[in-house]
Amino acid sequence: MNLKNICDKNINSNKDIPREVSLEILEFAESGYKEIKTAEKVIKAFERLGQKDIQSGIAITGIRTTLDTGKPGPNIAVIGELDGLPVPGHPHENQENGMAHACGHHAQIGSMLTVLTGLSDKKILDNISGKITFFAVPAEEFVEIQWRNELRKSGDIEFLGGKQEMIKLGAFDDVDIAMMTHTTPRKIKFSYGGTDNGLVAKFIEFKGIASHAGASPESGINALNAANIAISAINSQRETFKDEDHIRVHPIITKGGNVVSAVPDQVNIETFIRGASIDSILDANKKVDNCLKAGALATGAEVKITTIAGYLPLNNNYDLLEIYKKNLNDNFNEKELILDGHSGGSTDMGDISNLIPSIHPYVGGCSGNSNHSVDMVVDNYDLAILESGRMMAHTIIDLLKNDAEKSKKIIKKFTPKFNKKRYLELLRSLTNEEEYLS
Ligand SMILES: [Zn+2]
Ligand SMILES: [Zn+2]
Repeated sequence: MNLKNICDKNINSNKDIPREVSLEILEFAESGYKEIKTAEKVIKAFERLGQKDIQSGIAITGIRTTLDTGKPGPNIAVIGELDGLPVPGHPHENQENGMAHACGHHAQIGSMLTVLTGLSDKKILDNISGKITFFAVPAEEFVEIQWRNELRKSGDIEFLGGKQEMIKLGAFDDVDIAMMTHTTPRKIKFSYGGTDNGLVAKFIEFKGIASHAGASPESGINALNAANIAISAINSQRETFKDEDHIRVHPIITKGGNVVSAVPDQVNIETFIRGASIDSILDANKKVDNCLKAGALATGAEVKITTIAGYLPLNNNYDLLEIYKKNLNDNFNEKELILDGHSGGSTDMGDISNLIPSIHPYVGGCSGNSNHSVDMVVDNYDLAILESGRMMAHTIIDLLKNDAEKSKKIIKKFTPKFNKKRYLELLRSLTNEEEYLS
């Protein structure tokens, strides 16, 4: 009996369900920790596909449900992300909140559901061991940071990323291996194996003294000048960043003053500091803090720096990737498959990948300038949802057949970068507030 053939037949005969759910979600994109309607659709889809025990409301909107073979063995997570992000003018912008699925997360939910349609079959489950747990996770996009920071302060969440919060709450405690497939508008069928930067986020408030900008600027302290000096100082640090660390510091000024006739007494900056390793992020973070203080020192302003833990660098597990890649090669032409290098972007799948063996490949079937751009849309749902789900389902069959021999080997060989306790300590140590009075 060829389990992969049975899986493909199941996917084909149920293909309308993941597609319908994805297209529905596309029309009412919601941002992180607000994915209420999106989560309802996913729960309904799980029920429609025969899942009975569905845990919901984890980290506000997160969901998980398990397909159990009834035999002992590893638990493999298949992840889909629930959130959209603010992209004004996107063709599928939600007019109520300005959010859009310009990162294709609606298609990820579809590909996760496709895996369930393929594997939820007695003939398959009788011939594999262990469990497969399906996750719909909130808040992957690191956006609306100030709003999320308020949620953090009120105790509704501790971490800004949905997977981080779900890890803390124990939703991944029983999971041994994780995978998901992200969409990309690059002209490829699949790409795999790439690494991503990690990040910390900052918001910075410069406080000066307002005075009449024409009549008495000498009696004010110009917070905008402090911010400009700080940004120039940050730019002067760029030559100190090593190429291999892929440091990205990209500040924006979110408030530049109150009125043109007064010396600005309040200027706010937000920035990410991204890097390929935790050490390099910490190094750049310290330099940026010094530059911010230099702006305050030069002008006599005050600066309050709030630093918030972002995501950890992403690493794919190469043993797991080997199995996934073999399935790609069995189904696609080598020219349609790309081995990725390093990306300056970041994802909280990075956090998962530091704890358990994980893969985060990409699937094409989209058009547009890049993920997050106003023209990024999925235009080939068969590839983005069905084929991407099918490749994960085939990989899971390989991992869990023969008494889950292959996955047990991968788990045994894997050395996590952190255990959960150390991981949570790291995130907590990265989050802090500092006031500098010059
Ligand atoms: Zn994104
Ligand atoms: Zn994304």
